[in-house]
Amino acid sequence: MKLAHEFLQEKGYEFLEPEPASEDDLLRVHDGDYLWNLRKGLVEDGDTPAYDNIFEFARLSAGGALMASRIGGFSIMRPPGHHAGVFGAALGVATRGFCYLNNIAIAVKALGKQTLILDVDGHHGNGTQEVFQGDPKVTYVSVHRHPHYPGTGFRSEANCLNFPLPADVGEMRYLETLDKALGMIVAERFEVVAVSAGFDTYAGDLASLGLSDSSYMEIGKRIAGLGKPTFFVLEGGYMGEKVGRGIDQLLQGYEG
Ligand SMILES: [Zn+2]
Repeated sequence: MKLAHEFLQEKGYEFLEPEPASEDDLLRVHDGDYLWNLRKGLVEDGDTPAYDNIFEFARLSAGGALMASRIGGFSIMRPPGHHAGVFGAALGVATRGFCYLNNIAIAVKALGKQTLILDVDGHHGNGTQEVFQGDPKVTYVSVHRHPHYPGTGFRSEANCLNFPLPADVGEMRYLETLDKALGMIVAERFEVVAVSAGFDTYAGDLASLGLSDSSYMEIGKRIAGLGKPTFFVLEGGYMGEKVGRGIDQLLQGYEG
């Protein structure tokens, strides 16, 4: 993220520093015992260690999502969030996939509006699905690689529309699938669009779908086409400067 941040600074983006999310913000999404254990450093799995002060970092990352939701911005904070469910690991998955608090869920719950969550990270957001499955205010749409971690999201369930794709399918099939997904929702129903913006779909990254810079611009254009107030929250993407390039392309597509 340091490399991505430097790249975005050179591009002239403006940066704001968030406040940590409040206890009330966290409790709208997560179980109280989970939060207590997280704060005490008692929750740990193979992907998601109990680093010193990780609860405070995660609270700040959730605060970034809250700030983005209020100003229509892009939170570039880490750790990511979409694998974190109500009690930690979500939908029976063994690990939390680098996620501690579900940043986008915390922001969406705080807004309390009719929301479309579009998850373009290469992994399925099992935590986000767990939080919102059956929620009449929220529709969750995810395009992700399958079979792959976390193994969920191979079919749609209720208000959670899942579009699994095989590894490295490439931009053309990815965009066809995204268009199909967005064609199934009625944008007018929603007051706000919340984007779980992951960049591990880049060719060669952890959940590669064979995408490149231009793909993110195309994704941004489609998000703009929904015509709703929108905010973005960073999820995955592990190739340094490329994450910065992806964010810039996505926002250029969206603003253009
Ligand atoms: Zn991911």
